[in-house]
Amino acid sequence: MRDIWNPWHGCRKKSSGCKNCYMYYLDKIHGLDGFNIYKVKSNFNYPIQKDMHGNYKVKSGEKIRVCMTSDFFLEEADEWRKDAYDIMEKRKDVVFWLLTKRPERVKNHLPKYFENIAFNVTCENQEMCDERIPILLDLPFKHKGIMVAPFIGKVDISKYLKTGKIEYVCCDGENYENARPLNYEWVKSLYDQCKKYDVTFEFFGTGNIFIKNNKKYRISSDQQGLIAYKSGLQYHGKKIVYDLKIKEQMSLFSENENTNTKCNTCNRRFTCSKEKNCEKTI
Ligand code: SF4
Repeated sequence: MRDIWNPWHGCRKKSSGCKNCYMYYLDKIHGLDGFNIYKVKSNFNYPIQKDMHGNYKVKSGEKIRVCMTSDFFLEEADEWRKDAYDIMEKRKDVVFWLLTKRPERVKNHLPKYFENIAFNVTCENQEMCDERIPILLDLPFKHKGIMVAPFIGKVDISKYLKTGKIEYVCCDGENYENARPLNYEWVKSLYDQCKKYDVTFEFFGTGNIFIKNNKKYRISSDQQGLIAYKSGLQYHGKKIVYDLKIKEQMSLFSENENTNTKCNTCNRRFTCSKEKNCEKTI
């Protein structure tokens, strides 16, 4: 899952996880202002764009992350969302990975078609887990997940995993200016919870500052994923199957179907949709 579709850009900070938002940081170093929200016209219809041979740029069976420089359920994007949903419905052969810090807005902005949507809430600490996950559990999506990122405090989500409604959990540390530390013990605890309830878990990266055995480490961006992988804190739980409209129904969790040697140490291999040449360097 390397491909990204950003139909709009810019955001409003919502909770403590947004404090050091990388989008604001990167916009600032490019002389831009992340507070400025706009539709990305050249990219808005990316999932249905074709190459010079008439083939879709996003291949059948791929999993694509949506709105990684904004929030898909941002109020300012209400006028664009229906068109984005229509595009997703046209690509019933692709999985769209949605992520939001605004699940309270979702029930009034649901899609018509759900099969190809992996819906996730971001929860950076226990307070946000307890606020957002109950809303997630009540929403009608078939594929529900939780992303704990930036992971800034220990979380216990056992009671939510116990419902059997969550099929996927991932976590990541924080990066760039003023990054807050991620503690190994928090990740280990989350991993143990997921393993207990047979929920797939991925530890994506340590972030810039990682604490293990009371020692603080500064981790460069090219090492964060590799260290996460080497920690062994990845768990392949209940199979997740998307009813995609392609020739064969597929699972995106085939650990043994990697496409090249780099994949063997990739911290995202459980949820990868096997795009070749993803250019991941670890
Ligand atoms: S919701 Fe996401 S994109 Fe928006 S400010 Fe918060 S971290 Fe940044």
